[in-house]
Amino acid sequence: MTTKAAERDHAPVDDDVRAAFAATLIELETRGVTEFRTVREPAAEVERAAREAGDEEAAQRAAVLRADVLLREGRVGEGGRIAHQARAWAEAHDSPYVLARAHRELSIFYRLVGDFSDALTHGVQAVSNLTEDVPLGIRARHLMTLAVALDDGGSIEEGDRRSREALRIAEEIGDHELAVVVLNNMTYTAYENGDEAAAIALARAMEVASIRCARPLAGNELDTVARVEMMGGRYESVEAKLAGILDGSIPVNEGDAAGECLLTLAEARRRAGRFADAQDALDRAIMECESNGLGRLRARAREEQAALHAAQGDFQRAYEEHLLFHADATALHSTQREARARALQAVFEANEARRASERFREMAHRDALTGLYNRRYVNERLPALLAEAAARRGPISVAIADLDHFKRINDTLSHATGDTVLQHIGKLLQEAATGPAIAARMGGEEFLLIFPGLDSAAARKRCELLRLRIRTHAWQPVTGALPVSTSIGVTTVIDGRATVAALLSQADRNLYAAKRAGRDRVVADPA
Ligand code: GH3
Ligand code: MG
Ligand code: MG
Repeated sequence: MTTKAAERDHAPVDDDVRAAFAATLIELETRGVTEFRTVREPAAEVERAAREAGDEEAAQRAAVLRADVLLREGRVGEGGRIAHQARAWAEAHDSPYVLARAHRELSIFYRLVGDFSDALTHGVQAVSNLTEDVPLGIRARHLMTLAVALDDGGSIEEGDRRSREALRIAEEIGDHELAVVVLNNMTYTAYENGDEAAAIALARAMEVASIRCARPLAGNELDTVARVEMMGGRYESVEAKLAGILDGSIPVNEGDAAGECLLTLAEARRRAGRFADAQDALDRAIMECESNGLGRLRARAREEQAALHAAQGDFQRAYEEHLLFHADATALHSTQREARARALQAVFEANEARRASERFREMAHRDALTGLYNRRYVNERLPALLAEAAARRGPISVAIADLDHFKRINDTLSHATGDTVLQHIGKLLQEAATGPAIAARMGGEEFLLIFPGLDSAAARKRCELLRLRIRTHAWQPVTGALPVSTSIGVTTVIDGRATVAALLSQADRNLYAAKRAGRDRVVADPA
């Protein structure tokens, strides 16, 4: 995993501190899949502490964990917004790991808002941005997210390949709980595709994995197993699998799992011809839906009710119930569309806010009169450029340019003319700052040029060209007979090994030498 990004943006974070954050984060990132709620507090804590310590990459990883909890809890807009922000940060800071993590949450986000094609795009990125050294538990989770997105998109074989890889990893590292989750997904996919033989084998494997991790199957997993039993008409077995849910001995923590199970039970009983018992389960499912606001399940319960009426020959009531189902489903679609729109809106606004803050930051880095970078920017950027030169063991040059007798222009013409001259100079400097070079106005009529990668001879040549360019600019319309010229002091360090202060004062000494020698000239370091 990269730590490049954090190193570039901050004063170096102590290695021990960084390692401590990383260790905590890995534990949280691979914590048991059903314990997601226990991640919230520690993740928020790490985010705070890491930001304070200047380890922004760790803070972003923690934020992604927070997004995951929010998405699983159904706070889709909030979770999506954080995931989008983390992705933007990772892209701007070249952090493939945070990028992969953010893409995974985005895949989950888009699936929740019903956009399967974006879910797939992000699912692919979630896997392709993982580097070789990523912990296996993480890789398995990312593969599973991709598998789900592929399944939703109808690429069953491709999905199956990822699921099997995730499963193989889960078994290899002994994470049986993760294996249960992967197998549940695989089983449900096989069920939906009507592949009974595969569904049975997978359901058995899931039960075995559940025993291995000593975690009884949860409500939604039992529902999957029960549906597989129903496929083969083994209605007694459906009853047996779901008995624990009925008598309350199996706690159901997921929102709609209890309702799902009751509905499955109602369907099995109807198919078995036990209509009164079916009605009983259905009534309980409906109660579950209404007390928990489960809209989608409520519509499915109406569908089942219609089927139950029809099975008993009451076609009039079946028809009426079917109409109600249809109305429910239509209303539901529009509520879902609205929820989807709200979630997307939240994310959209976050992106806008980010762009606005980038614009603001950019403005804070610019000089108002010339549009060049300002001193604040130089103070922030130059130390990093020096450090990069030191890391490359390459040269970097800086030049200070100061207009000659500028006071004369202000005094004999006007301050406004002086400003216009400064604006022209700004353009000429900007033109001179090609490639990685940076031009800034340090204040008054003093400018700074930074030439990363340029040695003394090359920098001197660039400064000489700039001096000539300023001298020969068409000043006549601006200053009439008054000439405009600059003196430039340029200095170079060959391996980046110098402090910012030393570099600037050497450039300043050279500038002073240029002024003393008669102005309108370039002075470089003494040989
Ligand atoms: P030298 O060749 O020795 O550099 O002579 P100089 O006259 O350029 O030097 P000095 O530093 O004494 O004068 C700089 C002048 O620049 C003083 C100040 O009035 C003027 N100045 C500083 N900022 C601005 C500005 O934003 N606009 C205008 N019009 N003038 C400015
Ligand atoms: Mg001057
Ligand atoms: Mg000056």
